[in-house]
Amino acid sequence: MPESGPDETVSREAGWRAQFPIVTTHPELTYLDSAATSQKPRAVLDAVETYLTTSNANAGRGTYPWANRTTELVERTRERVKTFLGDRRPERSTVHFTSGATEGLRVVARDWLVPFLSDGDEILVPFADHRANLEPWLEAARLLGRRGVDVTVRALPVQASSGDYDHRALARMVGPRTRFVAATHVHHVYGGDMNVHRLRAAVGPDVPICLDAAQSIGHLPVRVGDPDLDVDFVVFSGHKAMALPGTGAVWARNTRGPVLRPTGWQGTPNTVGIVSLLAALDWLDEAGPERVARHVTGLATRLTDRLRRLEPYEILGCPASLTADSELPANQRRHGIVTFRHRDIPSDDLGFILYSRGFMVRADSLCQAGADEKPGSVRVSVHVYNTDEEIDRLLTVLESLE
Ligand code: PMP
Repeated sequence: MPESGPDETVSREAGWRAQFPIVTTHPELTYLDSAATSQKPRAVLDAVETYLTTSNANAGRGTYPWANRTTELVERTRERVKTFLGDRRPERSTVHFTSGATEGLRVVARDWLVPFLSDGDEILVPFADHRANLEPWLEAARLLGRRGVDVTVRALPVQASSGDYDHRALARMVGPRTRFVAATHVHHVYGGDMNVHRLRAAVGPDVPICLDAAQSIGHLPVRVGDPDLDVDFVVFSGHKAMALPGTGAVWARNTRGPVLRPTGWQGTPNTVGIVSLLAALDWLDEAGPERVARHVTGLATRLTDRLRRLEPYEILGCPASLTADSELPANQRRHGIVTFRHRDIPSDDLGFILYSRGFMVRADSLCQAGADEKPGSVRVSVHVYNTDEEIDRLLTVLESLE
């Protein structure tokens, strides 16, 4: 992609922001909680309205035109997820729609992992990431245990210095009974890429890897066709990537282990959510994942560069990931999430103070698994509609609380 000059970048970003009605109609408010859920561009709202006013019906059931159109939109979205992920062998992969990343990870655990594991197997899972990417694997092991199948669950090793996965320690842990690795692409508290491009080399060619891409889809390129991202499952939330609440998907490569076949009667799909996901992925591709990544990384860097010089604040996470420095590979940058604490002000008070100035941030619990969650932090997370000016105003308020 050719580099663009500063003027072009500014006008493109203003163009992005103008497409989000909730943002433009509330200039007094600044939304900084996109890691929880994103705002929706006009194109997504229009796609939803058009669908509901022209062809709303159930999918995969009726034979009349509205039902056929709905079925066709659902199938088209399935294919769109594959192209969005740069899947070079779409005939081998499957896409299953879910309500979000939590349900997606549960589906992989319950319907794929449980039947896949045998007595004496071992799985490696992240103990300091989002609870959604730990509890399903623990539950799968418990379920198997009740059936007399003993599975060892081990923690994916993490580098103390950076918080990223320790691929060297991981390579040493992988043995003949290692049957599965679950990892996170971008950490929901620290915002850093978790070194996932090194996972495949560390675990060898045969172990299936499941990637929680809840914080990377829509923020940076996630391309399963790249040798660096040779994973077997990509699980994500559509609602964090411009689609409606209650949307998400699991992409399964289906080349290691059995094909993912969600069990049981699937019922009526969230057709409106799926239609919104189709429009959202089109929107994101049009915006350009590399450009979006540069934008959100730039905003996070702007925030951390000044914040880390303010004495009462402590930024959580990896100092080496705090920069958009062009020397650093893209996978060592902070992707639009910055979590910090104030030495003296409890996080809910800080959240309250910030909202009184119009800033919506996440205060306190961040759903981090295990003992790792440090109390009392505030998370700022950005997306395409946020601007340098918003970050500067936030910094002015934070500085005034020194
Ligand atoms: N994984 C990560 C890394 C997340 O950040 C989140 C949401 N905060 C989830 C999983 C759960 O996603 P959802 O709410 O869509 O189920």
